[in-house]
Amino acid sequence: MRLCDRHGCEEPGACPAPKAPNSPDRWYFCQKHAAEYNAKWDYFEGLDKAEAEARAKAERRDNSGYAEASHYGWAGSGDGSRSADEMRALDVLGLEADADFDTVKKAWRARAKEVHPDVRPGDEEAAKAFQAFQVAYEVLRQAEERRTWKG
Ligand SMILES: [Zn+2]
Repeated sequence: MRLCDRHGCEEPGACPAPKAPNSPDRWYFCQKHAAEYNAKWDYFEGLDKAEAEARAKAERRDNSGYAEASHYGWAGSGDGSRSADEMRALDVLGLEADADFDTVKKAWRARAKEVHPDVRPGDEEAAKAFQAFQVAYEVLRQAEERRTWKG
């Protein structure tokens, strides 16, 4: 059995976590260390802070009727509530907290298409947005996998 990648930890490492945004390399942590790692990991890396804030604001503006409070009160099925990273990922994709994975996939495809490097060659802003969508999708895909495995 694979052990947690955290040095000195001997729990089974069942939780994959990307080593860097957009990286296919994964750490495998036990639940406790995965949570610790996720809490520190900033998937907005690559966007500077002002940009990330501007984007988050624009996302909120685009979602009229969007109840921000529902983000924090939401508790789903399975292992309980969504992580802060999942919430931010949903925000990046302009989705509600209770969006199912099909909705996530559709939103990601539509948004990624608009800013795809093939469509916007040499556009640095678009490239960053594309990267953010990819990472957001990856966060949600992994969360979905974790839920499915437990199912
Ligand atoms: Zn561990």
